[in-house]
Amino acid sequence: MFADLALYEAKAAGKRRVGRFSPSLRAQANQRASALQELGQAIDSREFELYFQPQVLAASGRIIGFEALVRWNHPTRGLLSPDQFIGVAEETGLIVPLGIQVLQMACDEAMRWSSDIFVAVNVSPTQLVSSGFGSAVLAALEISGLPSRRLQLEITETGAVDELEIEELEQLRSVGIAISLDDFGTGYSSFESLKKLPLDILKIDKSFIAEWNDDDSAVVKSVVEVAKALGMQSLAEGVETAEQLQLLRDAGCEVIQGFYISRPQPAVHVAQYLSAAVQASGEFVHSFGGASTRDGH
Ligand code: C2E
Ligand code: MG
Ligand code: MG
Repeated sequence: MFADLALYEAKAAGKRRVGRFSPSLRAQANQRASALQELGQAIDSREFELYFQPQVLAASGRIIGFEALVRWNHPTRGLLSPDQFIGVAEETGLIVPLGIQVLQMACDEAMRWSSDIFVAVNVSPTQLVSSGFGSAVLAALEISGLPSRRLQLEITETGAVDELEIEELEQLRSVGIAISLDDFGTGYSSFESLKKLPLDILKIDKSFIAEWNDDDSAVVKSVVEVAKALGMQSLAEGVETAEQLQLLRDAGCEVIQGFYISRPQPAVHVAQYLSAAVQASGEFVHSFGGASTRDGH
């Protein structure tokens, strides 16, 4: 195991060098082992909760769906954000059972919303190619009663496009689930994946929106054009200001998500908001949840 770790470390360093086992690696091994145990227990005792962030039409501000974002209600450390545990969950394979729990919770919650609103669930590459993933998705739909057209899956690129991945996605899409490519413009983004992966929505990464300058504006415009040319919908995430929203509208981007509209909210707030049905048409909902809402991270 220590040798594996040294190798892992060498690989992680991204160089062709032989890793040497060091006390810090031992500490990391211990950390990983306890993270594995802790996370496994947390899955068993269902310590996870979903927050939801609205996705709205750029033109009218109408809410069309919500992205489910997982949080860990840690018994001693408080509410943890995904950056604090998704990495470990992926490394240890626990993302598979955690992902199934997330899917089930997301579908169950969406059943409480109006029938025209979808839920978008993040799926990591490990989950997507894990055996039984497709049937777990179908089971979540069946158990909750959510129609497949109200479920979207947000996937990310991993480099070379895998045939297995394409097959899995095609099957999910054939039953009516929409596939969205998350974080586009970072990491391994390539035209190859845009061409090969069966996709419905292109999600432009927030890094392009955050510090908007002339170069980014050209990039965003072309990404929107590419999405259109490929018959995909374009969605910009990380929209924080009215100015960014305007620029995105000018660029022809169709769907918007970000703190400007609303921070991710606990499920109960979303259900209350939707049942109150207070959305004035044509108005944005950046006051969504009001001043009393908890900070949704
Ligand atoms: P993501 O899917 O790209 O989600 C968007 C992230 O950006 C969320 O962070 C969200 O809270 C944050 N965000 C939204 N609007 C804004 C904004 O206007 N400005 C800024 N600066 N940030 C904004 P969060 O919830 O911490 O999630 C981080 C990542 O963790 C997600 O990125 C996703 O990759 C992953 N993740 C979250 N939930 C799940 C899950 O259930 N399963 C898996 N596999 N991954 C998940
Ligand atoms: Mg996402
Ligand atoms: Mg993203």
